[in-house]
Amino acid sequence: MIEFSEKALKIKPFEVMQILAKAQEMERRGEKVIHLEIGEPDFDTPKCIRDEAIKAMERGFTHYSDSKGVLELREALADHVGDFSSLSIDPNKNILVTGGVSLGLLFALSTITNPGDEVMITDPTYPCYENFVKYVDAVPIGIEVYEEDDFKLDIDNLERAISEKTKAILLNSPSNPTGMFFELSELEEVVEIASKKGIYVIVDEIYSGLVYDRKRSPSILETGYGNAIMLDGFSKLYAMTGWRLGYAISNVEVIQQMLKLQQNFYICPSPFAQIAAIKALCEAEEDVKKMVEEFDKRRKFIVEKINEIKGFKTREPKGAYYVFTNVKTISDDSTELANFILDEAKVAVAPGVSFGSNGEGYLRFSYANSIENIAEGVERIRMALNKFRG
Ligand code: PLP
Repeated sequence: MIEFSEKALKIKPFEVMQILAKAQEMERRGEKVIHLEIGEPDFDTPKCIRDEAIKAMERGFTHYSDSKGVLELREALADHVGDFSSLSIDPNKNILVTGGVSLGLLFALSTITNPGDEVMITDPTYPCYENFVKYVDAVPIGIEVYEEDDFKLDIDNLERAISEKTKAILLNSPSNPTGMFFELSELEEVVEIASKKGIYVIVDEIYSGLVYDRKRSPSILETGYGNAIMLDGFSKLYAMTGWRLGYAISNVEVIQQMLKLQQNFYICPSPFAQIAAIKALCEAEEDVKKMVEEFDKRRKFIVEKINEIKGFKTREPKGAYYVFTNVKTISDDSTELANFILDEAKVAVAPGVSFGSNGEGYLRFSYANSIENIAEGVERIRMALNKFRG
C-alpha cells in the first residue's frame, strides 16, 4: 500500500464543501435543495468587469504577467488603499497580487512561520485557517469568542494565550462565520500586544466591503503597524469567486519573500482577470452598492425569520453574509442537526462545529441567496424541526 504524507493526512476536509457535495448528489437524484451553506454571492460578476476580461483576452493578456501582478492593477490597488488609509503604498514594493486570499494566506504563513511556531486564531473562525496553519507545520491556537460578547475577541485572553512560540495573530474581519468586525480601536489594541511581543498580525479582510453601517470595515493598514499583512480579494464584494484573485499588502521584506513563493509555485494569477479587476476597483461602484443593499435586505429578513423558529436564536450580524445561529436548546450536535435538516427539509446549512469546537451548538446560514429561497428554506426547516423534536 502506498503511504500518504503526514502533511496530506493532517488536513481535514472542508466540511461546508462536503455538505455542498451531499446536497448536489441529492439534486442529481431530482430533489430540490435550497442552498444556505455556501459562502458565494448568487449575483453574476458585474458586466463591466466581464466585458473588460473579454477585451483583455483579445488584447493578448493571455500570457504570464509579472509575478507581482500586472503593474496597472497594483497601481489601482495602491490608490484604492490610499482612499481609506494614509499609508503610502508602493505598487512595486508593498503589493503582491495573489490567486485569491487563499494563496495569499498560504504564502504569508509560509513566509513567516517555522515548524512548531504558534499562530493565534479565534474559535470559531473560517475553517480553512486551521488547515493552512497545519500545512506549514505551525500550530493553530484557538482563542474562544462568545456570542454574549458579540463574538468579539477578548484582548486579555489573547494576551494570555501568547507564548514564546507565538509568531502571528491571524484574524478575519469581518468574520466568517459570526459577522463580527473589529473597530479600529480594537485593531489598535491587538497591534499594541503584537508589537510588544514582536509578532505579526495577519488580517483577512475579504468581507471588508460587506458591512452595513458604513462603507468598509476598518483595516489593519489603518493602524500603521509595520508587521501587518493585509489580505483582501475580489471574490466576495465583486461576485468574482471563480476568478481567483486577491492581494496581499505588507512591508517590502515580507512581500519579497512571498513573491519568491509565487514565482515558484504559481507564477502569476490570470492576467486577463487582473486587467478586469482594475474595472472592478474603478467602475463597479454602482453594481457593488446594489449588491450590498440587497444583502442588507436579506440580512434583516433572515434574522427575523430565523428568530421565529422555536429554539433558534440569532443576533444581527454586522458584516459578511452569514448568520451564526444558536441552536443549543435543540441539539448540541450541529453536524447531526445540519444533516437532519438536509435530509428532511432539503436545506443545506453549515454545522457550527466545523468553524471550531466553540462553534458547537450553532448553525451557520449564508444569506447569499434570494429572499424567496431564504423564506422557503427557513419555513422548510421550521416544519422539519417538529419531527426532530419528536
Ligand atoms: N477567507 C475567508 C474568511 C473566506 O470566507 C473565504 C471563502 O469563503 C476565503 C478567504 C477564500 O477567499 P478567496 O476566494 O479569495 O480565495
